[in-house]
Amino acid sequence: MTVLVYTRHSITCTKQDDRNWRRCDCPKWHEYMHNGHQVRKTAKTRSWETASKKARELETRIEAGESPEKAAPITVKDAITKYLEAKAAEGLQPTSLVKPRGMMARLQAWCDSKKLVYLRDVKADHLHDWRNSWEFGKNPDGTLSPSWKIHWAVAKSLFTHGYRLGWVPTNEADKLKGFKTRSRQVQPFTKDQMSTILAAVPKCEWTSDTSQRIRAFILLMRWSGLAIRDASCLKRTALDDKNRIHTHRAKTKTDVFVPLPESVADALRALPKAHAEYFFWDAETKSATIPVEYRRLLDKVFETAGVEGTSHRFRHTFACEMLIAGMPLETVSKLLGHKSIAVTEKHYAAWVPERQIKLETAVKSAWQTMELPR
Ligand SMILES: [Zn+2]
Repeated sequence: MTVLVYTRHSITCTKQDDRNWRRCDCPKWHEYMHNGHQVRKTAKTRSWETASKKARELETRIEAGESPEKAAPITVKDAITKYLEAKAAEGLQPTSLVKPRGMMARLQAWCDSKKLVYLRDVKADHLHDWRNSWEFGKNPDGTLSPSWKIHWAVAKSLFTHGYRLGWVPTNEADKLKGFKTRSRQVQPFTKDQMSTILAAVPKCEWTSDTSQRIRAFILLMRWSGLAIRDASCLKRTALDDKNRIHTHRAKTKTDVFVPLPESVADALRALPKAHAEYFFWDAETKSATIPVEYRRLLDKVFETAGVEGTSHRFRHTFACEMLIAGMPLETVSKLLGHKSIAVTEKHYAAWVPERQIKLETAVKSAWQTMELPR
């Protein structure tokens, strides 16, 4: 059983007499015998190559006893169109379709370049090659930025969708591993930067109450590792007489218990009592706006100090200094109120080697007092 490909030229085509001419843009057709009848049908393409692929598909189906009238397998192009339609029907924000659209366009272009017409012909190996051609961002240490993971998830969902709807017999994308990515490593403040920041507070031309409050706020964030929301909403009752603070992390809903240096605890106790319940509120404060307000105040400090900063860097400073001092990652993770150590590792992995070097140096210096084996 052979399915022939031929060209049906348009009346303006110069190759009208040669139905085997492949290189013009005229529609390509299929011709074959079925149940004793000659059948001529459009191949629904203007590419000879695509028509040939479809012809081989058709042969296989006819030989397997399937009706040639039966729907052909879904093409990559149709699969993408239907998938994006289904996405749009989910009622998502229009902006959340930007990434899927972009990713599908990339996939289509790649499949075209590899002459892959049908979705079911796109195998895990192909997807592997395709991913290797990606050029998303990398971190300075060579690890992949999280955008790799995000883009793969978007690409994969086409195949998951197709598999679920029976367009393809297997989920080829599911056979590939995800990417190991890493968020940009955090940057703590140096000791010099911390001094410069604290020295800038009195230069911000605030009332002495505000200056006092901001100074205590900075010290609290640096020495507790609290995030700005938790620090700005710290209750007076959260500080006990042993200089420990006990808080509930708003983001991860975990309890955090951290001892503060005495001077920091005293700075908190010395704050003017503008609000009966909270250290950093006054009578008009609303909880939703307080982190915004403190972020703005801190920006002013950073600007005055000439230090590029964000409130989160105080928290990073707390964590990194602890790691460098040799504290185990597990403990730092608990102090930060992270839900899992994986989160801590993701952000602070770069600071662990520094801790390792410190540990090694300590071991080696201890050797100096020992008699080593020869
Ligand atoms: Zn032609």
